[in-house]
Amino acid sequence: MLRAALGDESVLLVRRGQEVFAIAAECSHYHGPLAEGLLAGNTLRCPLHHACFDLRTGEALRAPALDPISCWRVERRGDRIFVGDKLTAPARRLSKAGVPRSVLIVGGGAAAIAAAITLRREGYEGSLTMLSADDSAPYDRPNLSKDFLAGNAPDEWMPLRSPEFYSDHRIDLVLNAHATSLDVGSRRVTLSSGRDFSYDALLLATGAEPNRLDIAGAAEGQICYLRTFADCRAIIAKVASAARVAVVGASFIGLEVAASLRARGIETHVIAPEAVPMEHILGTEVGRFLQGWHQSHGVIFHLGTTVKQLQGRLLTLTDQTRLEVDVVVAGIGVHPAVALAQAAGLALDRGVLVDEYLQTSAPGVFAAGDIARWSDRYSGERIRVEHWVVAERQGQAAARNMLGYAEPFQAVPFFWSQHYDLKINYLGHAERWDRVDIDGSLEAHNCAVSYRRGDRRLARATIGRDLESLQAEWAQESRAHGS
Ligand code: FAD
Repeated sequence: MLRAALGDESVLLVRRGQEVFAIAAECSHYHGPLAEGLLAGNTLRCPLHHACFDLRTGEALRAPALDPISCWRVERRGDRIFVGDKLTAPARRLSKAGVPRSVLIVGGGAAAIAAAITLRREGYEGSLTMLSADDSAPYDRPNLSKDFLAGNAPDEWMPLRSPEFYSDHRIDLVLNAHATSLDVGSRRVTLSSGRDFSYDALLLATGAEPNRLDIAGAAEGQICYLRTFADCRAIIAKVASAARVAVVGASFIGLEVAASLRARGIETHVIAPEAVPMEHILGTEVGRFLQGWHQSHGVIFHLGTTVKQLQGRLLTLTDQTRLEVDVVVAGIGVHPAVALAQAAGLALDRGVLVDEYLQTSAPGVFAAGDIARWSDRYSGERIRVEHWVVAERQGQAAARNMLGYAEPFQAVPFFWSQHYDLKINYLGHAERWDRVDIDGSLEAHNCAVSYRRGDRRLARATIGRDLESLQAEWAQESRAHGS
């Protein structure tokens, strides 16, 4: 791959066998450098968050990129390569047979927006409605605990689509719309306002809700949670004048929030019952390393303890530590938002059960994202994952299956987490393991950590080895497809 400038655009010249392609050099998600990514079959993959593009058309095949990238005509004259005009992607035409007349999406997050975009990009022309309980149009939720909370991301970065996008694509986005009942017999969804909507095909993408912290003495609304844009704005307003903040929970959200608060120069205490942060997800060594990394940025940990009482600003922990704090933020996990599915009588198992096409137990009803539990072909287990890329990819897959593609969902689960300038990529799914192997050095921010059970590698976390993470994903996909 060779990076070059074409006017004010960056182009990547890619040679594969005898063919040469000219494709944009940056990912459409977060401008990842595609020259450092992976050329795999007919795809080009981004090293940052594993977005995947068609080499011939620039089409965004898989989230987290939802927009295509440019491709240029390439001509060979003698021993020279000339890059010509930009190619335009041919419009998709759907055969009408079996395509639903109307699609309803309940949710306005990762899975929902990815599904809506996919439906229109696939050429679906029927009625398309999104009902979201949120007061904001779909936004970049992962950024809420990172740059946005740290004060480094302007508001304009957050919406995933402009307001015009919805009208231009005839997507009827209804905000503040809380769906309270689903009748799978008559194919209707009713909102708390009483308004109801019919559908031919339905996607449930209601995500997850933060677990609530029960602390004696805490006043109503005194504990902050972080799930929505509004939550994040409320935290930012509260911490603006704060000198000391307590973060309850030392998992992804808790630690990312702590990093962002430190970026604001706020004294930050992280309180959690476990002895080592993230131990149950990343293992003891990585957890200890992360703890040290946060400590080196000034985070103060109170581990092996939890909160007992909050009286005004005085927070008392179970080990009797007392802290005067201005704000308390709790990040103690989430639970899938399954109330609607449950009331409708859909099959549940700690989430909404879906088949390989992401269809629930009710015909025409699909589920994707944090609520969906599916049979993961790589771990051989039924799993539910609470991560952005998985949710978006499931939204994309469910949309295509609504249109009759009958494609099993087979993406290898992937997520990333950001702590200051350290990014962890994680591929696969390991709830239990009996061995952890570290290749390389955590301290040098250059390692691959394998989580194994018996002779199987279930998952791999990498730091500073983005290409290796992409290669592992490609190898796993290729093995599963028998190529
Ligand atoms: P959501 O994105 O949560 O969307 C659910 C939608 O459904 C919302 O719009 C909600 O209003 C709506 N809804 C719920 N109930 C109803 C109802 N009854 N009627 C109508 N609408 C309803 N993952 C990563 O992989 N990497 C990260 O770095 C990362 N960072 C994160 C940071 C934060 C602060 C948070 C909160 C999450 C983060 N995640 C991250 C997780 C990721 O955001 C979720 O896995 C993902 O958003 C799940 O997508 P979803 O579509 O299932 O649900």
